[in-house]
Amino acid sequence: MFRVIFYLLLAVILISVFRAVVGVVARGFSELVNPGANRQGRQSAANQVPLTGELKKDPTCGTYIATATSIKETVGGETFHFCSKQCRDKFVASMAR
Ligand SMILES: [Zn+2]
Repeated sequence: MFRVIFYLLLAVILISVFRAVVGVVARGFSELVNPGANRQGRQSAANQVPLTGELKKDPTCGTYIATATSIKETVGGETFHFCSKQCRDKFVASMAR
């Protein structure tokens, strides 16, 4: 009876060791096939614009918009940020008048 338990335990250990080895080999293989994939992924993540950027007020509709995603228009040397092209066009038209 103890032999059965011993073999079961041995099987569990062997399976976990086998899984660990397969995991390491698979990681090494993917690195071999696609070198630098992990590094590229990390780089693009670092280059991503943070979601909590500076907020600017859209002078047309009064919405606060992140400078990273806003539509920018420089009027008279001052840069304005807009939520949409429609807002920008309205503002530019009102400034031209
Ligand atoms: Zn707007």
